[in-house]
Amino acid sequence: MAEQDCIFCKIVDKELPSDIVYEDDEILAFKDVNPVAPIHILIIPKKHIPTLTDMGQEDAELIGRIHLAAGKIAESLGVYDRGFRLVNNCKDEGGQVVYHLHFHFLAGKKFKGVG
Ligand code: 5GP
Ligand code: ZN
Repeated sequence: MAEQDCIFCKIVDKELPSDIVYEDDEILAFKDVNPVAPIHILIIPKKHIPTLTDMGQEDAELIGRIHLAAGKIAESLGVYDRGFRLVNNCKDEGGQVVYHLHFHFLAGKKFKGVG
């Protein structure tokens, strides 16, 4: 269910524009407006879940499907073999700014470390 004032819900509802790279019934992936890597995609559930810790047992399969979508996106963007990084920022100290669960799909450069 769309949450009022949530920018990602508005992107899901196409009330706000985005550059979509993958979409199915439950998942949307679109280019990050402020990329920090040559390829920077946000993969989100269409359902409004604020943070990773707000996931319920009923969301476990959905989160698994988001990871499967990451593989499909890697294939379609030509980085399947080169690899990519998938990141979730959870809450304040995790660096989360937008409180609609999302995974950063980062690729096109060599990452080192995790800091
Ligand atoms: P967070 O810090 O919450 O993990 O990441 C939020 C991300 O959303 C940031 O990388 C930011 O650039 C991106 N973002 C914020 N607003 C918009 C928007 O309206 N459109 C798109 N495509 N990305 C956005
Ligand atoms: Zn939302």
